[in-house]
Amino acid sequence: MKVKNPKFVISAVSEKQYPESDLLEVAFAGRSNVGKSSLLNSLVGRKNLAYKGNTQGKTRQINFYNIDDEIHFVDLPGYGYAAVSKGEKNLWAKVVEGYLNVRPQLYLVIMLVDIRHKPSKDDIQMYTWIKKCGVNHIIAVTKSDKIGKTQVPAQIKMIRETLEAGPEVDIIPVSSLNKKGVDKLWEAIDSYIVEDDEETEGDKE
Ligand code: GDP
Repeated sequence: MKVKNPKFVISAVSEKQYPESDLLEVAFAGRSNVGKSSLLNSLVGRKNLAYKGNTQGKTRQINFYNIDDEIHFVDLPGYGYAAVSKGEKNLWAKVVEGYLNVRPQLYLVIMLVDIRHKPSKDDIQMYTWIKKCGVNHIIAVTKSDKIGKTQVPAQIKMIRETLEAGPEVDIIPVSSLNKKGVDKLWEAIDSYIVEDDEETEGDKE
């Protein structure tokens, strides 16, 4: 999908600030430094829509982006920062779990994990919430340019096993450096939108 006019909407720190809108939401979750901002920018074909590298307030902000008035991309706060206090970690948990459980327009979560590493305890907790709330989800394994092509299947298998993701869950390798996998991720996102439209059509009959 070629995005024409992606717009930053708001950095929400409380539920009241979430946009009042019927647009479906695709949320992105992952630990800090996993490459979430870079992937968001790659998906929308912009260099700096999602702001990279700024950690301040990042543990509790949810950033909303309007993608051509078609969908919202929702950038959930990263986790796994070394210098985060227990209080801040609890707040992060409240914000993320809260968002996952209150948004009826949330239709897909993209969980990001680095292709090179075994998912952390925090990744496992994040993924457990995603499974528990029953939302559609895809796993994007980032920075695929950092390993050899032949290593990819073994890393995907290890990540699937560690997260206890079922065989039906798509795991898509992506690289924001060479853009490999970005189109495939869009196709996967689109396939969920189409399925959702078809269900709505079906409901009307
Ligand atoms: P975030 O904290 O999850 O938003 O991560 P960023 O998008 O800010 O990326 C963290 C670091 O990883 C930055 O130095 C990026 O340049 C680098 N990075 C992100 N994506 C890729 C990728 O696909 N390949 C490589 N080689 N580096 C990446």
